[in-house]
Amino acid sequence: MQKRNYEEVKHFECVTKKIICNKCGKEIPIIPNRSTNPHTEFEDYFHGEMRWDYCQKGYDEQFDLCPDCFNKLIETFKIPVDRYLKHI
Ligand SMILES: [Zn+2]
Repeated sequence: MQKRNYEEVKHFECVTKKIICNKCGKEIPIIPNRSTNPHTEFEDYFHGEMRWDYCQKGYDEQFDLCPDCFNKLIETFKIPVDRYLKHI
């Protein structure tokens, strides 16, 4: 007698296949697949999301930036971004 009964459930999953920089239109390069991970890996890019209060806008917004456009954007900040070393 089985203690648990499992059912195979198939589901749909959205997989990102292409990312375009919203500012300049350049495509973010794909890193060649290094594993059996079905998700595509991309070179460095910035992804930003704004979650608006429903009553204020009724929708959320998001965008992607390539490294060049990200660097140009942060140069316009009045207060510099925090930078810290990664501990690998
Ligand atoms: Zn760009």
